[in-house]
Amino acid sequence: MLLIKSYFITNPSSSQVILYGGIIVSLWLIEAVVLTSSWKDKWKHTLTNMFFIFTALPVQLFMTIFVLMICVWSLSHHWGLLYVLPYSNSIFVKYIIGFVLLDFCEYIYHVVMHKVKTLWNFHLIHHSDLDLDVSTTVREHPVETFVRMCFLIIWVFLLGASFGVLLLRQTIQTIANITSHTQFKLSPKVNDIVSLVFITPNLHHVHHHYELPYTDCNYGDVLSIWDRIFKTYYNDMPKSEITFGIDTHMDKQINSNFIKVLKIPFAKRSS
Ligand SMILES: [Zn+2]
Ligand SMILES: [Zn+2]
Repeated sequence: MLLIKSYFITNPSSSQVILYGGIIVSLWLIEAVVLTSSWKDKWKHTLTNMFFIFTALPVQLFMTIFVLMICVWSLSHHWGLLYVLPYSNSIFVKYIIGFVLLDFCEYIYHVVMHKVKTLWNFHLIHHSDLDLDVSTTVREHPVETFVRMCFLIIWVFLLGASFGVLLLRQTIQTIANITSHTQFKLSPKVNDIVSLVFITPNLHHVHHHYELPYTDCNYGDVLSIWDRIFKTYYNDMPKSEITFGIDTHMDKQINSNFIKVLKIPFAKRSS
């Protein structure tokens, strides 16, 4: 047990990959057994999304070097909002306030990706999945991965976020993202309670509905409070009323072809 614990402490990135991989595979298998009529179709759909891991991972790992450099710099210079707050050395400020502020930054990032047309052309790749399931979590255009990491560098610089809070945030954020894309929804009563604070699968499914104004609501990453504050919150929709995808890109043949999906933002720009 001690050996496993020390492995997870000394190898945070590989232990995170094992953790996320385990959660994704488990949820995928449960979805396939409980909800899927055709394993073949589900596997084909998953395969398209899995290719995005290979384009995102190098970008993510390369950009992480710069995130960590900013972390080290702000620590040595005591730079950033979190350092000027009262009780800045307390665990509450460092971790809890740090986590909440990073979540707010992620909300801003998501709104920007929807509102700036050039960025939306890349973010719509995530929305173009016509069959939302746990594999949709990794469906992200590599250019969006680059933009997301650039934003993260800005947030870390402004806040002075430590490596510890980033690790905490990364862990909770990834688990929240995986679960919010699962085909399983909470019962309306449970959703009403959990969604008071957190983004649930029910709320994120509405964000993946194919047309406005639903696409422009429930931007939250882990916490739903930002959507409530900024009036972008939309409560649960019945499963029968939700159509996944994005109205401008509903071609199933294109959306299930990795190379064609990668080209979508560039084709759109030249048109
Ligand atoms: Zn979105
Ligand atoms: Zn999503």
